[in-house]
Amino acid sequence: MASRYLSSLNAAERGDLERKLLATQQGVCFICEDPIDYEIQRAHLDIDHIQPLADQGKDDPRNFALAHANCNRSKQAADLRVARVMARFGKIQGAARDLGKDAPNLGDVLAFRNGAQHSIRLVVENRRVRYGFPDLEGPEANQVHEAPLYVDPLSRMQYFFALVPLSYLHHDERINPRGIGASLRGLVEEFFKGRPQLHVSLAWTPTDGNEAGVVRIFDGQHKAVAQILLDVAWLPVRIFVDPDIDVLLQANTNAGGKLRQVAFDKSVQRHLGSALYRDRVERFQRETGRSPDDFRFSERDLVKFFSGEAAEMKRYILDNVRDGITHHPENRLRQYIDLGGRKNVKPISYSSVDKTFYSFFISPDLLDTPLDYGLDVGTNPRELEKDQIVRLMSLISEIVFEGRFELERGTYRIENKIQEGEDIPEPHLRAYRMAKEEIMYNWLSYISQIVTTFYAFQGVPFTQTKLFQVRHPDSFWANVENYVRNLASLPLWVNRQLSLTVFGGKPNYEFWNKIFTTGSSPQGQQVLVEPLNLTKMVQP
Ligand SMILES: [Zn+2]
Repeated sequence: MASRYLSSLNAAERGDLERKLLATQQGVCFICEDPIDYEIQRAHLDIDHIQPLADQGKDDPRNFALAHANCNRSKQAADLRVARVMARFGKIQGAARDLGKDAPNLGDVLAFRNGAQHSIRLVVENRRVRYGFPDLEGPEANQVHEAPLYVDPLSRMQYFFALVPLSYLHHDERINPRGIGASLRGLVEEFFKGRPQLHVSLAWTPTDGNEAGVVRIFDGQHKAVAQILLDVAWLPVRIFVDPDIDVLLQANTNAGGKLRQVAFDKSVQRHLGSALYRDRVERFQRETGRSPDDFRFSERDLVKFFSGEAAEMKRYILDNVRDGITHHPENRLRQYIDLGGRKNVKPISYSSVDKTFYSFFISPDLLDTPLDYGLDVGTNPRELEKDQIVRLMSLISEIVFEGRFELERGTYRIENKIQEGEDIPEPHLRAYRMAKEEIMYNWLSYISQIVTTFYAFQGVPFTQTKLFQVRHPDSFWANVENYVRNLASLPLWVNRQLSLTVFGGKPNYEFWNKIFTTGSSPQGQQVLVEPLNLTKMVQP
C-alpha cells in the first residue's frame, strides 16, 4: 500500500499521473472496468500497485493502476489483476441474484462470455470421432479435427478428448445443480500464477436427435469458470458420447461427482482423523437420514445436534485437527516430538506442541461452512489450517532440527554437560535450547504477529482467530522463513557462558518474554544485543 513514489509527488504531478493512467486504461476503473468520470470522481480515486509490493511488485508507474476508491477498498484480492477477475465474477453473481438464484453456475458465466450458442458437428466412425466448429468466425471454422474414441473398460462408456471453444460449451444443470461458491478466488489465483489445470472438465453429448452435438459440462465447473474469467477461450474437455444419463446422474447424486470422489475420499478421510470425531459424524449422518458420503453439514451443526455434550463435541472437532497435524505424513517436525517413547531422546514434548503450535494457530471458532466445503478446490478452511501448520512445523524442522539435532545424543543433562566442559556441537545445542517450552512459547507467539502485520501492510482485513484458514502467499512464507533463520542465527543459542544463568534453572514464560522484548533478563543481564525487531527479522 505505502508507496514512496506516490508520496514524493505534489498535487499537480499526482493529477498528471492519474490522467495518464486513465488514458492507458481507456477511461475505465482497473478493477470494476466501469467508466471513471474524472471531473466528478477525481477526489474518490486510488492509485494502487497492480502487483502488490509484498509480492515483489515494483513501486513504479508501470505497476500503478487507477481505480474507484471504493472498488480498491472492497477488492477481493491483493493483486489488482485477480481483483479485476473477481469483480467480473461479482457482476455475474449480481445478475444471478436478480434472477432469483443463490449463486451463479457455469451456465451464467458462459452466458456472459457469448458461450453456449452452438452444437458441435460430429461423426463417429471406426472408433474415431471427426468434429468441427463451423459456426466460428475465421479460419477455425474450416478445420476438421479427429480424435480416437476410447471405451471405459468398466462402465463401457465411450469418450474422446477435445479442446472446445466457449461458444460450443454448455452447462448441465441437471447433473450438476450446484452453484459456484466463494471458493472460486483460490482457484483463480492458482491459474493466474501459472499453475496448470490438473483434471479436465467432464462433459457429454448425444450424437442424434435435436440435441445432437450439444456438449454439456457436468463436472469441473469451478475450474472451467476460473479459466473463462481469466480470458481462456478454449477449454480441454473429456466428452462422453451417448452415455447412459442415469448412470452419470447416479454417479453425481451425493458428493458432486463420482469421478471427483477419488480425490475427495482421501481428503475426507484425513478430515476425519480422530476416532471420536468420526464416530459422531457417522451418528449424525445416520440419525439425520444422510448417506455416509454426505458431508454437507458444519461443525456448528454437529455441536447443535449433540447439544447434551456440546463441550465434548467441540473438543472432538479440535482434537481431530490436532491429530491431523501430529500424524500428517508430511509433518517433518514429528520425528522430534516426544509422543511417549524413550525418555530424554526427543527435544520437543507433546505438551509443548499443544501449548504453542496448537493453541496459537488452530482456530477454536466453530465453522458454519459444510465439512466438505471447498475440498475439491483446496479452500476448505480446516484443511488449509492443517496443511499450513504442517508447513510451518516442517519449515522449523528443516531450519532448526534436521541434520542438527542428534537424536542419539538426546536431551539428557545438556546444560550440565556444557558446564562440565563437555563438547556439545553447536547445532545440537541451538536446537535443544530453541525447543525448550518456555522459549519456544515466546518465539512462536510472534508468528501470529507476522501473519497480522503481513495483511495489515497490504490493507487486507484479517480475522485474528483464523490465522491459518486462508491460503497464505509465497511472499508470506518467505517472511516466516527469514524470521526462523534470523532467530536461529542469534548468538545466544550457542553461548556456553549463558548455561549457568538464563539457560540454567527453570525460568518461566515471562522471563523469556522480557528477554525477547527488552534484550535483558528480569535480573538485568544483557542476553541479546537488542530487543527482537520483527520488521527486521522477516527480512532476508
Ligand atoms: Zn471501479
